[in-house]
Amino acid sequence: MTADLDRCVDFAQRLIRTEGLPGDEQSTAELVRDEMTALGYSDVEIDGAGNVLGRIPGGDRTPMMFNTHLDHVDVGDHAQWPHPPFGGEIHDDCLWGRGAVDIKGPLAAQVYGVARLLEDSQSPAGDVWVSAVVQEEIGGVGARFMAESRHFPVVIIGEPSRNQLRRGHRGRSLLTVHITGRSVHASVPELGVSPYDVLAKVLSRLPELEMAQQDDLGASSVAPTLIRTDQTSSNVIPAEIWLDCDWRHVPGETGFDAQTKLQELLDECLVEGATAEAVLPIKELATWTGHTARMQGNNPAYILPEDHAALNVARSALEPIIGPTDSVGTWNFATDGGHFSAAGMVCIGFGPGDEGLAHTVKEHVPIEQLETALDGNAALARALAGAD
Ligand SMILES: [Zn+2]
Repeated sequence: MTADLDRCVDFAQRLIRTEGLPGDEQSTAELVRDEMTALGYSDVEIDGAGNVLGRIPGGDRTPMMFNTHLDHVDVGDHAQWPHPPFGGEIHDDCLWGRGAVDIKGPLAAQVYGVARLLEDSQSPAGDVWVSAVVQEEIGGVGARFMAESRHFPVVIIGEPSRNQLRRGHRGRSLLTVHITGRSVHASVPELGVSPYDVLAKVLSRLPELEMAQQDDLGASSVAPTLIRTDQTSSNVIPAEIWLDCDWRHVPGETGFDAQTKLQELLDECLVEGATAEAVLPIKELATWTGHTARMQGNNPAYILPEDHAALNVARSALEPIIGPTDSVGTWNFATDGGHFSAAGMVCIGFGPGDEGLAHTVKEHVPIEQLETALDGNAALARALAGAD
């Protein structure tokens, strides 16, 4: 084990042992800040939203940024985990725990991989920034905040990709179907208007919706997820139902497009006395520093062309480490890359860990992949900083 792999793994373990659901990332942010400072990063700061940034100074050509996030998803029932979710334990040469792949393993590999540039005889042609943002898991408050005030021509998104390059993903919108009827005692259903009658039609016809298509990312999709009613009594027909729908977009389609399409279906499913509306809910979120944001629960889609110049530079830089990359794939899930892309930045994905393990009780990353990611991140920083 090289000395910095050893320290990188130790840092990833300390990150996993530091809990931080969205909105509660202060301890993780301070840990990342202190690690960057100890490693010799310049201008290490925590910004107004609670994001952490640090810089490896380079020449006056274009800067770039490496990006991951500070938060993680809930661990659920601890008993379901083969190893403690906040243990950061190592078994069979793999690091286990919540965040091992999403995203504390990749975060540690970015912080340590890019820090290798401090040992180079020549500084990079442009500044290399490393950042870890808040609330990625609930819509990207931190990334949106950062994209408003800073611009980087190229951003490396460290979400897990088994150390392969990624060039985009579908976007996401949360849509809520709100159906109203007329509430009555459940013993006389014929006197009321049940919103379930509308809901049943909507659910059965959702798969008929014609979905937008895109060559690289396939089709958009929609999936009903959560359901709520205005009732807590099981002997009353509710007056209102809310059904959350998770809509995944291909590039070019927006939440408003989805809303229009869904509303047309709702209009066709109405029964007499009922109403149905497709809503894009606005939520208000506060970060641990007190910054607040009102926003839709959406992530934009993005896709880079396979022959994009920055992607070609990344391919060549990684070839000595991971071998030739014939075709660059996409992620199944949305990332903060959507927000940075929407602000005009070129986002390239590269991170250790199997993305299929993210958000599961089997989350773990082979140490070997962290080692490759250290090499890969250092190579990407040397090749892409200032490569305009
Ligand atoms: Zn993530």
